Amino acid sequence: MKQATKFEKLAAVFEQLEAVSSNLKMIDILSDFLSEITPEEARITAYLLRGKVAPDYEGLKLGLAEKLVMRALTQAWGISLKEVESHFQKIGDLGDVAAGIAPERNSAGLSIQEVFNELQIIARTSGEASQKAKIQTLATLLSRCSPREARYVVRIVLGTLRLGVAEMTFLYGLSKALTGTREKKAILENAFNVLSDLGEVAYQAVQKGVEALQEVQPIVGIPIRMMLAQRVEDLEEVKKHIPGKVFVEYKYDGERIQAHVPKQGDITLYSRRHEKITHQFPDIIAAIQQAFPGKEAIIEGEVVSIDPQSGKLQDFQVLMTRRRKHKVEEYMEKVPVKYFLFDILYFNGKSLLKTPLSQRKEILARYFSNKNGLALAESILTEEVEDMENFFAEAMEQGGEGVVLKDASSFYEAGIRGWKWIKFKKEYKRELADTFDLVVVGGIYGTGRRAGTYGSLLVAAFDPETNKYYSFTKVGAGFTDRDLAALPQMFARYQLPEKYRLVETEMEADVWFEPALVMEVTGAELTVSPVHTVAKEKLKKGGLALRFPRFLRWRDDKTPEQATTVQEIYEMYLSHQKMR
Ligand code: ATP
Repeated sequence: MKQATKFEKLAAVFEQLEAVSSNLKMIDILSDFLSEITPEEARITAYLLRGKVAPDYEGLKLGLAEKLVMRALTQAWGISLKEVESHFQKIGDLGDVAAGIAPERNSAGLSIQEVFNELQIIARTSGEASQKAKIQTLATLLSRCSPREARYVVRIVLGTLRLGVAEMTFLYGLSKALTGTREKKAILENAFNVLSDLGEVAYQAVQKGVEALQEVQPIVGIPIRMMLAQRVEDLEEVKKHIPGKVFVEYKYDGERIQAHVPKQGDITLYSRRHEKITHQFPDIIAAIQQAFPGKEAIIEGEVVSIDPQSGKLQDFQVLMTRRRKHKVEEYMEKVPVKYFLFDILYFNGKSLLKTPLSQRKEILARYFSNKNGLALAESILTEEVEDMENFFAEAMEQGGEGVVLKDASSFYEAGIRGWKWIKFKKEYKRELADTFDLVVVGGIYGTGRRAGTYGSLLVAAFDPETNKYYSFTKVGAGFTDRDLAALPQMFARYQLPEKYRLVETEMEADVWFEPALVMEVTGAELTVSPVHTVAKEKLKKGGLALRFPRFLRWRDDKTPEQATTVQEIYEMYLSHQKMR
């Protein structure tokens, strides 16, 4: 049996990762480490590298308050709170403070597993006396740490680890560790798209080998990454991408939900970002229980709010009032919803991911009828552009926001935005029709009416290949006074002393942020700019930038890695150049 890997070794990896910004170097560092550990340690490493102690969909958060961690430092090493505070004021990073206080000695030999267990206990402790218990557990753990270990334990519990190891970077590292090349990352990525759990993928890959993951199966209760759509600006274009039969469906303006229905036990509803939103929709749960008694399934659809008087579809904003922890029952009456199903990914013990859409739809229709808050998404099956146009007009009349066109012969490509699904909205007819989901990386202080908050925010697109964020525009328009007033508090916890090392820009900002929050932005046109950096390497003469940007809304349902990519913007630019 392999000896348990020491946390000291992982802490050294953290330190190396922090010092590089090249994706290839990060991959090499990860690969060296991952090639020498057990399956369970690989699982743990996948979580800890990203500052987590569980898969994302479990929603288990550490994020302890600074005050609490400071108290743990005092208990761990018997120094006064005053002293800790004064160090913190000088140094600005509690991890560094802890490393400074911890006595210089070798680690007590903590293993990765032990540290992970303690961190999990801290995360899972809840209830009245939880603060005290958390401090106690953390203090005991810290007292056994070397300075370097203490630095990273503190950063993990605070949620400030910020190594910038993207999911794909990790999978490249894992591929290289297990096969000697980065090339098998595609298999791992596919497995990740189905299991949505980097830790589980790492565990299975180390245990069974990468090739075994070709046949990865969905698990009821664990979210599958959702299939996404490309867009066209004209319905004629659809034929180019889908030569055969197409399902044309209403594009509902609501929230995507993946429902996991086990044979026994509780149904779970997952949002696009894999948050468990089960508690928000007791009405949907009841409807599913009635429709599928005793059956096991993973189904997908869009939940939309319905006007109680007219029965018409209402827009997204109305549905958002159902996003709540309290008064759920009251709002269930006030804002009734309907769950429009459009896919089934698993049924009675069998994965349907590799079953053509036309058959998946048959299965869905067979077991399920339109009643009690559930409905099949409206759709037609056709090859004719004229039918698509007529159906689009009908969808708009009924309060839809457009149509989604789906290749009837296609498999469910988890997590992929390909041409098997295509979205078409009315606004796409304008030149810059679709909106961008951009990550905030910096802030510029406001003046005049905006004094005391930010006047504008610097936003960036993500490039999964380089694992970097490229600045694209500065957004100052479109905010209400309330939006503006909320900014300083919203961003306080993401503030950094300098530009984040994975952000590429020539712009200056007054404050730099960790890439964390995503906003939806519209704009008037794309130009080439000397200071922004999107696709700069391809264009040579400068980077792409968005002119006249306007803030639309926060996209809490997206992580920074799900922001609009550099490649998508570049392709949009090329297609506009062609149209000119
Ligand atoms: P994207 O999801 O493509 O990143 P987005 O979140 O801004 O972009 P849209 O561009 O409006 O959303 O379109 C995609 C979304 O449309 C899906 O994620 C889903 O929530 C919604 N949708 C509504 N009706 C359907 C349908 N019939 N089939 C698939 N998705 C649908």
